[in-house]
Amino acid sequence: MSSATVDRSRLEGLVARELERFVESNPRSHELFERGRGTLLGGVPMSWMAKWAGGFPLFLREATGARVVDVDGHEYVDFCLGDTGAMAGHAPPATVAAVADQAARGVTAMLPSEDSIVAAEELTRRFGVRGWQFTLSATDANRFAIRLTREITQRPKILVFDYCYHGTVDETFATLDGERVVARSGNVGPPVDVSLTTKVVQWNDPDALERALAPGDVACVLAEPALTNIGIVLPEPGFHDVLRELTRRNGTLLIVDETHTFSAGPGGCTAAWGLEPDLLTIGKSIGGGVPAGAYGVSDEVAERIAARDDADYEDVGGIGGTLAGNALSLAAVRATLSEVLTGEAFARMIPLAARFAAGVADVIEEAGLSWHVTELGCRAEYRFSAVPPRNGAESAALADDELERFLHLFALNRGILMTPFHNMALMSPATSELDVDLHTRVFTEAVGDVIG
Ligand code: PMP
Repeated sequence: MSSATVDRSRLEGLVARELERFVESNPRSHELFERGRGTLLGGVPMSWMAKWAGGFPLFLREATGARVVDVDGHEYVDFCLGDTGAMAGHAPPATVAAVADQAARGVTAMLPSEDSIVAAEELTRRFGVRGWQFTLSATDANRFAIRLTREITQRPKILVFDYCYHGTVDETFATLDGERVVARSGNVGPPVDVSLTTKVVQWNDPDALERALAPGDVACVLAEPALTNIGIVLPEPGFHDVLRELTRRNGTLLIVDETHTFSAGPGGCTAAWGLEPDLLTIGKSIGGGVPAGAYGVSDEVAERIAARDDADYEDVGGIGGTLAGNALSLAAVRATLSEVLTGEAFARMIPLAARFAAGVADVIEEAGLSWHVTELGCRAEYRFSAVPPRNGAESAALADDELERFLHLFALNRGILMTPFHNMALMSPATSELDVDLHTRVFTEAVGDVIG
């Protein structure tokens, strides 16, 4: 098949056509956005909500299962699923029932509930580590995990991979400019020069990792099992073994962030690939959309935490949060893990992502485009290169804002929500083969429009 390309001369006009259609079909969302500008910064309750391709977001009426209905009455198949926050599907009945029951019996009381133990037991069964603490977000889980590793190693620095994302954690907004560690472009009010706190290496680069860890000043490596926030960049065979070996050899603790890679299965990539983290962090989906995050630690880390007599873990030491571990979040986590994001659910969700990827791959091949699609459990993502990128920098170089805007808008206008920051699709227990096939049809049409 001859190699097709995107017709750039047409793209601008196509985006304009789709924008017009979007504005016309969403008067109520538009009106709410304009009204919101009166009292909400940028017209939205959180700034990233303005990032949707239509220039203003759809306003939510309701969401159930894999469906979202907006205030103009349009129904969408939701492959965005709250950027993983709703991977359990929207309003999963078991979680809703547990939350309603707990809400009526008290939300937060400075006391632990039995649900916290059941939730922790389930997390241990899945991910191996024991010693769980609960937070309200994955960001907080990462922040506290980092602090703990600095405390118990008494080392100043952390190491992250280029183009990682681990939430709004100051130390992680670092990137490489040649050999130099610099702030991620656009980082808002960094507290200190990020090179003071952070080393950065490219994903899949064992030699750079070895050099960075050798001086013995790195408390922890914070890593997703695969990069998922700059497209999906999978580890090359053996990379995790090297990462584990080098961290152990250099006395550096390994924090594995499973927030997105939980998509790989009931125990995330940690269980699927046999990873051995010292600390594991997770958030977003574990509460079925109710704010909850968690970090768990190995027995050895738990002992080292306990041995730091002077560390104030209970009050002003820098770890915690008044609402962290509250009864409502824990009721949600217990129900979601025990009844919704179960092993059986993943056994249905993962083949759906495979179906999604196969559909997209067929369209790409038929059209003769040099694009590819990557799967990670119940997550799939297409990218604009023939060969998958090896690291974050290579992946970042594939960004194509105009093309993405067109594809996202095209999908939105035809009843499909894709994650604004990615070309990523996520399957929930409520997603169906028909939903996936609808995407394949719409994607076929969109690709037909853009190729020259
Ligand atoms: N870790 C990873 C891997 C993430 O992708 C994100 C958010 N995209 C976070 C942590 C932070 O999650 P939250 O914004 O819910 O704190």
